[in-house]
Amino acid sequence: MTRVLITGAMGFIASHAIADLLAHGYDVRGTVRSRPKALLEAALARLPGAERLELVEADLLREGSFDKAAQGCDAVFHMASPYAVNVKDPQRELVDPAVKGTLNVLQAAVKAGSVKRVVLTSSFAAITDEPPADHYLTESDWNGKSSLKRNPYYFSKTEAEKAAWRFMDSVKPAFDLIVINPFLVIGPSYTRALNESNKMLADMTKGVYPGVLALAWGFVDVRDVARAHVLALETPGATGRYLCAGEILSMRQTVNVLRKALPNAKLPWLPLNYSFATTLVKLISFTQPSGVGSYLRSHLGRRLRYDSGKIRRELGMTFRPAAESITEAVADMVAKGHIKV
Ligand code: NDP
Repeated sequence: MTRVLITGAMGFIASHAIADLLAHGYDVRGTVRSRPKALLEAALARLPGAERLELVEADLLREGSFDKAAQGCDAVFHMASPYAVNVKDPQRELVDPAVKGTLNVLQAAVKAGSVKRVVLTSSFAAITDEPPADHYLTESDWNGKSSLKRNPYYFSKTEAEKAAWRFMDSVKPAFDLIVINPFLVIGPSYTRALNESNKMLADMTKGVYPGVLALAWGFVDVRDVARAHVLALETPGATGRYLCAGEILSMRQTVNVLRKALPNAKLPWLPLNYSFATTLVKLISFTQPSGVGSYLRSHLGRRLRYDSGKIRRELGMTFRPAAESITEAVADMVAKGHIKV
């Protein structure tokens, strides 16, 4: 395996995957939607090994757009997909680019003839959009509840991953497909853009949340997610989906970490993480933008449990402590001006 195609090269996770691949001696071809934007982002050009990185244009919604980019590549990391919680037209803004884009990329990999493995960045969102009360989530779980109205980003990721597995079944290409399902990805960024997942931490420091809610997240450092993709590429016996998440922290625990990192920030303090308050916040959630509202109603008060044993056993993954990743993410957002201190 020498040349890897990465879609959405300027993305938060993709730029870390590029750094990891370059550091391990790979040639990398990244796709971006428009070249000028990429050229402005000097960060990637400064990466060690950047002389082995090329950037080409491709759009998820244009059929055949990735064909040329995939030529001569041995593997593909398909990472490009819109990540947004509040959108006006979920079909057009989320589902179409996620699903059609995935199929375009897989077709390009077939046409290239040289691709041996595709690693698809799916999401925990394709596993569940409402943590169940009765079991630990694993790779066998599928999100069967999201729709265009309910958690549409989750729906786009579920539909895209399903489309990829259906493609593998029907086309039976010469390459195999490995899927990585990360939970909430945080950490320092190579680019100036504020990613949706880091933004959640930034919002907590700005008084956006009314109080400490009964929420919990499975945190995973962006550098660990990049590593998981490279390990998936390099492990011959890798197969199927890999739930990719480290520690679970409640909102209370997350706020405690943030307080240590930013003692003067406007952090949520009002305790709203007990059952009466949860019912009240669920009612108030109907006044929120629909993306935030449906997220709150499906997640508030739910006990989150999952088993990330498969990725640890089969790919040898280890995860950074969540507190370390949160602290580094916050320091990076302060340095880039996303959080004012
Ligand atoms: P980013 O928003 O940073 O990256 C998304 C990338 O997708 C960008 O490079 C963007 O390009 C590209 N993209 C979006 N629409 C199109 C399009 N129509 N054509 C071409 N490219 C497009 O998000 P992340 O790095 O966080 O996400 C990367 C992947 O990881 C996504 O598939 C996301 O669903 C998944 N994921 C993310 C998690 C997280 O917590 N961050 C958790 C689980 C999964 P451009 O720069 O031009 O906008």
